Amino acid sequence: MRLFVATELSEPLFEALCETSCSLRDCVRGRFVAPDSFHVTLAFLGEVPQAQVVLAQEALDEACELQPPIEVALGALGSFGRPRKSTLWQGFARGVDELGGLAGDVREALLTRGLTYDSAAFVPHVTLMRAADVTSGLLPMPTVAKGSIDTVTLFRSDLSGERPRYEPLHRVRLQPLDPEEEQR
Ligand code: ATP
Ligand code: MG
Repeated sequence: MRLFVATELSEPLFEALCETSCSLRDCVRGRFVAPDSFHVTLAFLGEVPQAQVVLAQEALDEACELQPPIEVALGALGSFGRPRKSTLWQGFARGVDELGGLAGDVREALLTRGLTYDSAAFVPHVTLMRAADVTSGLLPMPTVAKGSIDTVTLFRSDLSGERPRYEPLHRVRLQPLDPEEEQR
């Protein structure tokens, strides 16, 4: 099955992303990602045999064990790919290094279990549109918000339907560090 690891986005980040997505409707043509699919991909594994899914779950548990929730702020819009068929996304103004650290921990835990992933450099972002035409250069001001990222999930991606469907297979809640533990 096709797998990836991503963080989910709680309020108020989710609300802000919905607003940004709405404002894009007036000025950019392309395919909109459904808000219930908003996420930040930490590692894309691609096809993984069923028997190895449990290893990916273990990797997630290990990588998140000592990871507190990450305080982030949404930031600017950006794009990947060709201007007529771009992946259009909203990035982060705060929490970039922490998200990078978490992605690194997840990737390392996958690797120690013999699981591979796309090793392209990590750029934390939430994809809002695909096949977006950004040739006009006119993009709205994104709505920004501060919030906490506290859920890391192993998703199965099903591309057989009209639109991608992401099914959560395993969810880890990030726990605030216990101050007593920290002192030890
Ligand atoms: P579609 O491919 O139909 O446009 P999608 O990209 O949302 O849909 P997937 O291709 O299964 O669905 O990707 C799931 C997640 O993993 C998305 O966030 C996607 O951007 C990311 N992703 C996909 N391929 C890669 C890759 N090679 N490297 C890094 N991230 C990837
Ligand atoms: Mg894809």
